[in-house]
Amino acid sequence: MSELDTKFKNLLKTIKNYAPKNDLELVSLAFDFAKEAHKGQKRMSGEDYIFHPLATAQTLAEMKLSPAIIIAGLLHDIPEDTNYTLEDIRKNFGEEVSSLVEGITKLGSIKYRGIERYIENLRKMFIAIARDLRVILIKFADRLHNLRTLYALPRNKQIRIASEVMEIYSPIANRLGMYEMKGQLEEEAFKYLYPKEYNWLKILIEEQIKHKEKYLNKIIKFVKQELENEGIKNFEVRGRIKQLYSLYKKLLRHDKDINRVYDFIAIRIIVKNVPACYSVLGIIHKKMKPLKGRIKDYIAQPKPNGYSSLHTTVFTPEGEIIEIQIRTREMEEDAEYGIAAHWYYDEKGSFKPNKKTNWIEEITKWQKELSENQKFLEKLKIDVFQDRIFVFTPNGDVIDLPYGATPIDFAYNVHTDIGNQCVGALINNQIATLDKALKSGDVVEILTNKSRKFPNPDWLKFVKTSLARNKIKSSLSKRTLIDKFLKK
Ligand code: MN
Repeated sequence: MSELDTKFKNLLKTIKNYAPKNDLELVSLAFDFAKEAHKGQKRMSGEDYIFHPLATAQTLAEMKLSPAIIIAGLLHDIPEDTNYTLEDIRKNFGEEVSSLVEGITKLGSIKYRGIERYIENLRKMFIAIARDLRVILIKFADRLHNLRTLYALPRNKQIRIASEVMEIYSPIANRLGMYEMKGQLEEEAFKYLYPKEYNWLKILIEEQIKHKEKYLNKIIKFVKQELENEGIKNFEVRGRIKQLYSLYKKLLRHDKDINRVYDFIAIRIIVKNVPACYSVLGIIHKKMKPLKGRIKDYIAQPKPNGYSSLHTTVFTPEGEIIEIQIRTREMEEDAEYGIAAHWYYDEKGSFKPNKKTNWIEEITKWQKELSENQKFLEKLKIDVFQDRIFVFTPNGDVIDLPYGATPIDFAYNVHTDIGNQCVGALINNQIATLDKALKSGDVVEILTNKSRKFPNPDWLKFVKTSLARNKIKSSLSKRTLIDKFLKK
């Protein structure tokens, strides 16, 4: 069998694990279609082009995503790079698949052009998320394979693509709780952005692993035995090595001293439910003394992005220090795939977002409303970019401001003089009061009067940004000085 066939078989096998059989036929049709469309095309790496969409689809299948998403992954480069059009895709594979492919094609124009374009890029990604989260998932899978074949590109392109990943993709994956994806993306980008550091760390880690491997296996065996003795059932114990980039960031905080990073090798114990997590923690502490201040209960108090797990760091019988993470299978899937883990098959075999995660339902709802209501952004309450809003100048420049910011904050953000000379504001072409809270997507025009020299002290009562506050205060103090001077 050819390498391509083997890889495609593997894709079908991965999907078969969780999807109904008739979906597999459609995936096969999409694969044949993509093969035909990309016929004769090569990647920079010299491989036939089809290996790229196939790898993209494989990543999506490993996240257990719906066949429509996987099919869109197989077809994602067709409208841009082949003679076939979006319309051909729609005719053959329907509305859902073609709208996903369209979304990816549009996102394709996002490029990292340094900090001044950064916010704009984030905004585009953000809007794309709001329209259809699934597009982002495909884009991530696409980018991951591009990173893995980055060696074939010239150095300047390597740097541009790797920077995009660190500055745009990775923060978004993080906000969406997709740690597995974030880790893999960063790992590849790290290699190209900091080659010296990457190689230093790789050698360092290999030495450490050689040294620790034996005792790691020993401790895994020990833990398994103890849990069995205590009657714990249906569990899994495995070792994991911290990803190089996150280890690198941690080392920077610890004077590059690997002996001070306790969690670069950890043991993960997966159990069947929450009570079992705590039982296991008890057993572990009975057998191995915990390090003070290193027990973290992210089950009782999950991290803001929903991460749940128990962490503890213990002394092994050999006197080594090791981190142990205890969690349920569900927590494990959440931590790896984040929001991508929240789709599931219902009894009828249709693919749906999980009911537990309300905000995904919300997004689905917004998607439906989108066609009727273009002002969808104001409804977005997902904390993807914390509490920031994005508003536009009449020229289309994007200004990002904290939630609740007013036209005055906007004005000072554009220019101090515009702030000081502000006499009114138009929000989406409507006259608005100066204390009105702006919303994402608003187009804001500041009306100025050139003869006005000083801000109104009342503005201090409602501005939200320290930038505006400081500029108002400093302009007012100048006025006080002038007043004093005039009085004398
Ligand atoms: Mn692609």
